[in-house]
Amino acid sequence: MDTSVHDLWDHALAALEKKVDAESFAAWLQPARPRSFENSRLTIDVPNASSRNWLASHYLGLITSVVEQIADRPVEIDFVVRADRKLASRRAAEADSAAGMAQAREAFLSARLNEQYTFEHFIVGESNRFAHAAARAGADPNSKVYNPLFIHGGVGLGKTHLMQAIGHEQLRCAPDKRVLYITSEQFMNAYVESVTQGTGREFRNYYRNIDLLLIDDVQFFMGKDSTQTEFFHTFNDLYDSGRKIVVTCDRPPKELENLVERLRSRFEWGLIVDIQPPDLETRMAILRAKASMLGLDLPYDVAIYIAERIRSNIRKLEGVLQLVKARGVFDGHPITRDAVSQFVSPFLVGEEPKKVSPERVARIVCEYFDVDVETIRGKSRLRKYALPRHFAMYFCRQLIKLSYPEIGQFFGNRDHTSVMHACRKIEEQVDAESNVQNLVAYLSKKIQDIDIA
Ligand code: ADP
Ligand code: MG
Repeated sequence: MDTSVHDLWDHALAALEKKVDAESFAAWLQPARPRSFENSRLTIDVPNASSRNWLASHYLGLITSVVEQIADRPVEIDFVVRADRKLASRRAAEADSAAGMAQAREAFLSARLNEQYTFEHFIVGESNRFAHAAARAGADPNSKVYNPLFIHGGVGLGKTHLMQAIGHEQLRCAPDKRVLYITSEQFMNAYVESVTQGTGREFRNYYRNIDLLLIDDVQFFMGKDSTQTEFFHTFNDLYDSGRKIVVTCDRPPKELENLVERLRSRFEWGLIVDIQPPDLETRMAILRAKASMLGLDLPYDVAIYIAERIRSNIRKLEGVLQLVKARGVFDGHPITRDAVSQFVSPFLVGEEPKKVSPERVARIVCEYFDVDVETIRGKSRLRKYALPRHFAMYFCRQLIKLSYPEIGQFFGNRDHTSVMHACRKIEEQVDAESNVQNLVAYLSKKIQDIDIA
């Protein structure tokens, strides 16, 4: 049967679609076009050099075997960059800024960045100020200061966004730089594939040629020994040749269990920054920015209503707005608190106020007074320790309603009368002194994890 090159490739694509994950298929295989099939050599056009390198390093074996099966004979595959053929006409257009933009667009598509995840769209507040500053510095193509930059923090707090903003910025300043964003899981899949296809060398070459590697969620590497080893070598290659690496993780390096020590210590070489849950003001700012991007006119009281209830995760803040928008109930009508309240409840799981324990009370009071919890739970009667102890006892009574003997037991087995005495002393001071009043209000909010706006 005389199969035309297009039929051949269509069949191959249909088979490949079943064998690779949907995202990779869309990113790498779909844009490829067959050019010719001569003398058992199948030439495939690809949109850019990144695609060529990626396909050659990750999918050459797989594509070859699929095509050979369809063609029923040995086949060699060549990937050719489409742009190379158009180079002559490109040159003429290079001065044209539209072409420049197209090139920039191509660059970030091949870096696999989300268009929205730029510095411009990133709201800075107390909770992420330092991480943002470090990312800004890291995005400067001329700086080699922080390598690697290790960003850690809880789910939905902006790690991926910030990391990709570095990629965007790098490409903006230096469009010829090779930037790659990849999740740790994708790295592992690609690595495993290169092992099974026998394309380890291509795999390594591909990664060695990257100028800025953004590797997301490295906690995924925990317990995956051979992937860790491979990543360790990739890391060293990049590091030694002065390329930049940005890493995100849901915890700091020292809490990465089941990670080989040498890799953990690499993560600690550069700068480690964390992103904390956003405070009320930052949540308000994010809500307003996202609402305006969605074209929603969000009244202040509604924004407060949402921001007070959803505290731990920015993705959830967005989720509420998207639902409000998607349901369309406000089309043309003002957004009201009552109506929004129906949308909020699915997002409140995990947002319950922290359960207050005597341990928590002691920890927060001790942080404020800068003393150790052990000392206030110990025997010392020094005023330096007695004062925080009295405050902590007072809060255990006020906020947790523990009995005097229970409190006494927790604080070094003290007699209940000394607890009563301590609580009464603080109460008197609260009545008499406004600064003690303020301190008590401040600490009790902090203990209950209420925002201090
Ligand atoms: P993580 O990777 O930490 O789980 P993401 O980076 O995916 O979190 O952020 C979750 C969502 O919240 C994304 O849509 C992101 O754009 C948004 N987001 C997070 N932090 C900010 C911020 N400071 N300003 C604006 N949007 C943010
Ligand atoms: Mg993420």
